[in-house]
Amino acid sequence: MREVSPSVAEIQFRHAKRYFEEFISRRDKLARELDRVKTPALLLDLEGVKARYVQIKYHMPDVNVYYAVKANDNLEVLKALAQVGSGFEVASSEELEKVISLGVEPERIISSNPVKPPEFIDYAYSVGVKRFAVDSFTEVEKIAKVAPRARVYVRLAVPNEGSDWPLSRKFGVDTETALSILEFAREKGLIPLGVTFHVGSQCNNLQNWFIAIKRSAQLWEKAKARGIKLLVLNMGGGIPIRYLQESLRIEDIAYYVSGLLRKYFSSIPHELQIEPGRGIVGDQGVMVVSVIGKAQRGEERWLYIDTGVFNGLAEALGGIRYPIYVKREGELKEWVLGGVSCDSMDVITKSLYLPEPEVGDRLFILSTGAYTTVYASKFNGFPPPEVICL
Ligand SMILES: *Cc1c(COP(=O)(O)O)cnc(C)c1O
Repeated sequence: MREVSPSVAEIQFRHAKRYFEEFISRRDKLARELDRVKTPALLLDLEGVKARYVQIKYHMPDVNVYYAVKANDNLEVLKALAQVGSGFEVASSEELEKVISLGVEPERIISSNPVKPPEFIDYAYSVGVKRFAVDSFTEVEKIAKVAPRARVYVRLAVPNEGSDWPLSRKFGVDTETALSILEFAREKGLIPLGVTFHVGSQCNNLQNWFIAIKRSAQLWEKAKARGIKLLVLNMGGGIPIRYLQESLRIEDIAYYVSGLLRKYFSSIPHELQIEPGRGIVGDQGVMVVSVIGKAQRGEERWLYIDTGVFNGLAEALGGIRYPIYVKREGELKEWVLGGVSCDSMDVITKSLYLPEPEVGDRLFILSTGAYTTVYASKFNGFPPPEVICL
């Protein structure tokens, strides 16, 4: 038998239990569904989503929030956010259609994926979306062709260290290239609008914001010297939420970021933007799943549940560790948590401490509001968890 450190086991389970109890204590409607909803299901708290938006605005009153739709594109989530005045960041025609269908004005919509399908740019521009991110000359040419008076903001590469879901290798350029791209955009008749960056999703490292804002300010000054007056600083996403580990709080990020802006920008940009996805919906959902099997394999105890990494828990593959709770007491045992499919990659965690559940017991997977059902496929014939907004 593998040695189990009681302290690690207890810390993990107590954290999950405390989080679970706190989560349901303020959510009666949701709490009532926990034991009766058909599994697998994702229960989302719409009031919580709105409250989270309001909380972010409270701490960042001078910053416009554009919710990154890809984190969770559920129509009711989008509607709730539209009601409280959120803007939206979209990357595809389908995302844009959803947001437009809610009556959101195109002025409240931006598109920050630096490489977009031409049809999407065409469609977005035709409905009045005018602001697009770029990080290549090719993208500028593409936009200039179908959206001749569009406004573009350039994506800088910034460190993503300490972010659980880094993005930076795929996108972004250095400040010199960024400057050339902005000048090229101007030559092509587009309007150079500003700078954007993404510190990496689930960013728990304040240093990333520090370097990103400092670099943005450098680019800002260089652009000014070349006669390009930028207006918008878009600070991307990255606001983290609590998983098995606690995370930076929004108030701390807000305080730190506003200090950096005052320090590095000679005057505060005309418009400040953020695009949180995870930070708005991530901790407003709980996934309810059922145990469908147990097995002892060598030294490992395995638990199997009725969903998996292909049906909603994809981020487990990238290292996201969800707090998981079961309503049982007793000795804590270490489990490998297997997903429902036949694929050997379908493992959610190799080290979950729980009192022993029985087949049919429900597990409650916390912090599953973002990047779960949006990633899900029907692989192996298992449909994604049903999303229920409460
Ligand atoms: C995914 C994405 C976001 C949202 O990131 P979070 O870490 O979920 O806040 C914001 N902006 C862009 C351009 C993105 O691609």
